[in-house]
Amino acid sequence: MARISIDDAVLDISGGEPRLLGSRCRACGTHTFPVQSGCVRCSGDDMETVRLGTRGELWAWTVQAFPPKAPPYLGDTDRSTFEPYGVGYVQLPEVRVEARLTEARPEHLKNGMEMELALVPLATDDDGNEIVTFAFAPSGGAT
Ligand SMILES: [Zn+2]
Repeated sequence: MARISIDDAVLDISGGEPRLLGSRCRACGTHTFPVQSGCVRCSGDDMETVRLGTRGELWAWTVQAFPPKAPPYLGDTDRSTFEPYGVGYVQLPEVRVEARLTEARPEHLKNGMEMELALVPLATDDDGNEIVTFAFAPSGGAT
């Protein structure tokens, strides 16, 4: 059994440390997430793919309390076993990223808190491989 990224173009788990992939505009330095072929600021198309930082500040968040529509959602859609999860925007050094959060309890989430990239299992494919997606976890334990 192997661990497989939900999307190699978004989440690179090939190295020792998982990293999100984004784009950087060679003309003006603007970053995007996910990878884009054009720059949102200067409309240039000279973009390079870069590995984004793994730590940032929680900017805004909410809790997903019921299963999203499947497809495209690959996780558990059974309302009796579905576990709520947090969703938020994390301000990385380069760009703000929308992501799942490992923490779903509102009393443990606060705007401005430090977050770090984490992998969470999402599903198992027909070959028994574990499909993982990215999330952000509060860093340094409880606040
Ligand atoms: Zn640009």
